[in-house]
Amino acid sequence: MGQDAVNWRDRFPGEVTCVRCLQKRSVEELDRLLWCDECQAAAKRRASIRGWLAGAALAVVLALYIWLVIQPDLSLIPTGWAATLAVAFYLGARVARELFLGWERLANRRAVEARPPSLDTDSGREPGDGRQGRRPRRRD
Ligand SMILES: [Zn+2]
Repeated sequence: MGQDAVNWRDRFPGEVTCVRCLQKRSVEELDRLLWCDECQAAAKRRASIRGWLAGAALAVVLALYIWLVIQPDLSLIPTGWAATLAVAFYLGARVARELFLGWERLANRRAVEARPPSLDTDSGREPGDGRQGRRPRRRD
């Protein structure tokens, strides 16, 4: 029965180019958008950072609103207001992370993780960080 199941990966050859970093990968390493694991992780990392910043911004705006508009008597339940800000920060960051990641997946821009094959090979300097690309061999 399992042999009859159609898998989207069957349409591709064994090696496929990741649309983000342009590296050849096994089709098993890619997801449906043809992003490799490293590019997915990079997108998630970037979305997390932006999400925490957005959550912090939301918490600051909410704190200003509470402080200037609501003007609560903080002697009564200060922990309640602090908890409100903490929840706004955490939930805002989580929601913003999903939105940033969803946007990046939706936009699906090509080759944004790609490193150009080192432009400075001829000058003799080491190419970039070489994290994603294969380092060109130095000519003797
Ligand atoms: Zn990739």
